[in-house]
Formats: sequence, C-alpha cells, structure tokens
Amino acid sequence: MAEKVLIIGSGPAAWTAAIYAARANLEPLVYEGAITEDNQMNGTLPLGQLALTTEVENYPGFPAGNLEGYLDDSLHKSIRQFMAPHQKEGVSGPELMELMRQQAKNFGTRVVTDDIVDVDFGGRPFKVRARGGDQVEAHSVIVATGARANYLGLDSEEKYKNRGVSACAVCDGALPRFRNKPLVVVGGGDSAVEEADYLSKFATTVYMVHRRDQLRASKIMADRAMENKKIELVWNNTVDEVLGNDADGVTGVRLQSTVDDSKQELEASGMFLAIGHTPNTAFLEGKLEMTPKRYIRWTVPFRTNTSVEGVFAAGDVADDYYRQAVTAAGTGCMAALDAERWLAGQGI
Ligand code: NAP
Repeated sequence: MAEKVLIIGSGPAAWTAAIYAARANLEPLVYEGAITEDNQMNGTLPLGQLALTTEVENYPGFPAGNLEGYLDDSLHKSIRQFMAPHQKEGVSGPELMELMRQQAKNFGTRVVTDDIVDVDFGGRPFKVRARGGDQVEAHSVIVATGARANYLGLDSEEKYKNRGVSACAVCDGALPRFRNKPLVVVGGGDSAVEEADYLSKFATTVYMVHRRDQLRASKIMADRAMENKKIELVWNNTVDEVLGNDADGVTGVRLQSTVDDSKQELEASGMFLAIGHTPNTAFLEGKLEMTPKRYIRWTVPFRTNTSVEGVFAAGDVADDYYRQAVTAAGTGCMAALDAERWLAGQGI
C-alpha cells in the first residue's frame, strides 16, 4: 500500500514536517539518511547540519538552563547512552535534533535509516528507491534533505571543525572562544561580508581572506565591509593550512598568495568558511525544477509546492537565503500542512 506522506531528510524541516503529518494522522514515513563513510565525509549524515554544530543559542524555547534531566527524560535510553554528556547550559545541535526526532517518533512517525537514491515522480503514486534496495510508493513526498556547507578540503580544517573552524557565524560566532580575539572569514561573496560584519561585534579584528582582488559581494555589502573598521581585507590569498593545537583548537591560519609564492601567517582563534553551500539534490536531477544553483524551486509564492504536484520541499534544500534551523522548521510545518490539504483534495 502506498504511504500517505514520505519525508526524505532528517534536519529540523523533516522532523517538524513529521510531527505535523503524524498529528494529522498521515502516518509519515521518514527516510533519515544512511550512516556511511561517504555521508560522513560529505557532511550528510542523519540529523543534518545541526548535528555538526555545538551550542545552539538562537533556537527559541531553549533558554540557558540545565537540560540534563530533560534529555534523560525525553530520549530513549538506547539513544541517550551513546550521546555525549550534556556539557553546558542551553541546548546543543545534536541534542536538539535527537529531541525533534524523538518528538516525531512519539506521535507515531516511522523512521528508516537509509538514503533515498532514486525517485520516479512521473506518475502517482510516486515511487522511490533506497540505497539498501527498498522500493516505496507514496501519494505525497516532502523533500527536506538540506544543504551542506562547502569547505576548503584541508586535513587541518577537518581536524579543527567545532574547535575553531565553523561555516556558520550566526550559529557559533557568539561562543566565548571567539570573543575579543582576531578571527578569519574565508570568501568574498555576500555571505562572507555578512559573516565578517556579524563577527566584528565579538572579535578584535576580522580578516576577510579572498582569493581575488575584487569582492563578489553586491555593492552595498562590499561597502559595508570596507566601512567596518574591524574588518581587514586580505586580498589575493587562500588558506593553505589551519594552525592549532590540541589544547586550544585553532590558533591561526597560514595563507598562500594567489599572485606569487609568498606565504604569511595570521593569528586567529577561529576560521569561518563562507564559500557557498551545496544543496543535497543530486538524486533529484531532472525530476524537479531547480534554481541555477541546484536548489529546489518553490513554484507557488508562500507555499512549499514544487514543480511536481504532490511533491513539497522544506528547509535549506529549497532555501539558500535564510538557512536557519528555525526557518527550516517553519517551512517543514508549512510542507506538512500543504501536503495534508493536497491529499484531502485528492480524497486520500
Ligand atoms: P557566493 O556568492 O557564491 O560567493 C562565494 C565566495 O566564496 C566567492 O567570493 C568565491 O570566490 C569564494 N570561494 C568559492 N570557493 C572558494 C574556494 N575553494 N576557496 C576560496 N574562496 C572560494 O556565495 P554566498 O556569498 O554564500 O552567496 C550565495 C547567495 O546568497 C548569493 O546570491 C548572495 O547574493 C546571497 N546572499 C545575500 C545576502 C544579502 O544580501 N544580505 C547575504 C548572504 C547571501 P570568487 O569570488 O573568486 O568566485
């Protein structure tokens, strides 16, 4: 029998869609992704980008306070026993995602730990195929596979992820390790300026390292970078190596000039990447309308509809602008409501 709602993904958009769909008696089935070495390398393991961050201080509902008891109480022992101990106040990204997943399961959501690798949206019910070989039919599908931040690909960068290397200033910038210290932002687009501008509230100096001698950012954003006295532009350079040690995490970066052989070192307690994101849409190539950057295109204003009737998209897979946990959760809710209403219209 075909599923009423199949949800692909396992970030805030997917779990929020599942919570709403489950409470509407649509008995959602979630494919949360597979635990594989490839997914680990690509930053696409189950629970998404939030599972790769530390403290989450901007998700409403988790003010500072000790959550240990709440976590013990809310999560099944089989999950809790393998989680890192709750360290500080507030909530961490992995904790938040486990709580959302559990909340979805509490309302009857079924979860399969596998990737969807192929879809057939050519007729209804839709057909999808999982990596492990499962074939699933579904009357409606919500795609919430998110996006992954691009990294430079250096071993040293990998080593210091969450210990000074981050791809989200809004998520991590206010952490104590970044306050009153010099920081590095890599990139020359609008995101890089936005990140540098945001970080300048906390840092002594923000070095914006760009590989060319001209910013890609829009004029208004470029002016913002130039006018901010705490932002220092470092033109024609790329990061060659992230410097650090086990005790302190990141302590600086080594730069390589793009115009000559010169190298230089900058002292910094953090390096923020702003060199773009890649949406996780490769398995949808040719199946759904996408933007030039391969994000799924929402086809109806203020709705989560895609170019295929009955297929909805939520979260970062369709949003390269806000990219926040709370906005992803918001569009996850919208997608579940859109799917519910569409199914009702079909008499399902
Ligand atoms: P982007 O415009 O694609 O810029 C990426 C930047 O990273 C470019 O400067 C690029 O250098 C650099 N880069 C890429 N790969 C690199 C590598 N391997 N090593 C070093 N540098 C590398 O991406 P974005 O800034 O994330 O912006 C994405 C979209 O969102 C844009 O349309 C942007 O306008 C929009 N946005 C708007 C706002 C706003 O208006 N407030 C804020 C954020 C984002 P090159 O320039 O040399 O290619």
